[in-house]
Amino acid sequence: MSGAFKISVAKMDFGVAEELTRKVHDVVIVGGGPAGMSAAIYAARYGLDAVIITEEVGGQVGKAGWVENYLGYTRIMGSDLVKKFEEHVKSYNVPIVIDSVVDVKRYGELFKVYTPNGDEYTGRTVIISVGMKRRKLNVPGENAYSGRGVSYCAACDAPLFKGKVVAVVGGGDSAAQSALLLAEYANKVYIIHRRNQLRAQNYYQDLLLRNPKIETIWNTVVKELRGDRLLRKVVLQRVDTNEVFEMPVDGLFVEIGAEPPVDLFKRIGLDLSQDGYIRVNHLMETSIPGIYAAGDCVDLTPRDFRQIVVAAAQGALAAHSAYNYIIKKFGLIRDKDAYEARPKSELCES
Ligand code: NAP
Repeated sequence: MSGAFKISVAKMDFGVAEELTRKVHDVVIVGGGPAGMSAAIYAARYGLDAVIITEEVGGQVGKAGWVENYLGYTRIMGSDLVKKFEEHVKSYNVPIVIDSVVDVKRYGELFKVYTPNGDEYTGRTVIISVGMKRRKLNVPGENAYSGRGVSYCAACDAPLFKGKVVAVVGGGDSAAQSALLLAEYANKVYIIHRRNQLRAQNYYQDLLLRNPKIETIWNTVVKELRGDRLLRKVVLQRVDTNEVFEMPVDGLFVEIGAEPPVDLFKRIGLDLSQDGYIRVNHLMETSIPGIYAAGDCVDLTPRDFRQIVVAAAQGALAAHSAYNYIIKKFGLIRDKDAYEARPKSELCES
């Protein structure tokens, strides 16, 4: 696959698009976060023909601030870690198509993976690693000020708030991570949390406490966002006294967690947990033989332990299971393919 490493369908050369949609892939990976990227590397090393279809490369990792708990990196920005993932996947020539997936259907012994504009990718197996969709506050003004003061990505937007006053909504690891990053730029960072206790790891809580720029507003929820062309203030309400008050801010970062894309999973017909996560066994097998799942969207990952390293490990396992399924159902992998899947550096040396 030449010239097609990462490509948006809108910009995709017709020949490349046709080749990717015409061929039968061993594995179509839906979602390009750490689970999907890791699955791609393992699949390629097994000699499988893999393609990744994803709305964005890196998933939530690209939006994380400093990552300090991923093996091999003492401290790395999430966006830089995503670049490392991309480089790694690129070395195995696995194409990444930037697109959404709206459905997956069985087609005889194969699967068809559909995108919104009607493209179909055919796979012997499918790995679903779509992660989760970020929650929104759903309060008046949120949509109007999105990109005009309201942000869902501190790692992307923190430098824009140098010397300003910002607030982060949420009490989990993402809120803590964002507040700490924002404090490197802003003069003042408020954390607005609906309870009187944070959910974030103790490690983060200690850092928050020690940071003089960060202050937590407890037992408080956001009711409305107001401003002119830009966000100027948030209307808050205390949940214990019902008192409503306004607070001037230049920016508001929404970090209130995420939910799995249940509608897609239901369309595919996957067995789900009550709260909409994909049920898998220890081999990352879903209820549909040939479809595997990995990462934040699976029921196996503890809700309070969504870690990059966990997603990456599950992705590797899903690729391993896909390989075993293909061997059993379709026979041996062709040597030529295995050779082509080797990293470029290896190919150059041989
Ligand atoms: P999370 O753990 O689900 O936390 C979401 C926070 O937002 C909670 O404090 C919750 O309040 C609050 N919240 C939810 N809905 C709200 C609403 N409508 N209005 C106001 N507040 C609301 O989500 P997360 O922080 O994004 O973390 C997700 C997963 O990723 C976790 O497993 C986390 O450990 C992991 N993660 C890990 C790292 C790391 O290891 N460095 C970094 C980021 C994320 P309550 O507390 O009252 O429920």
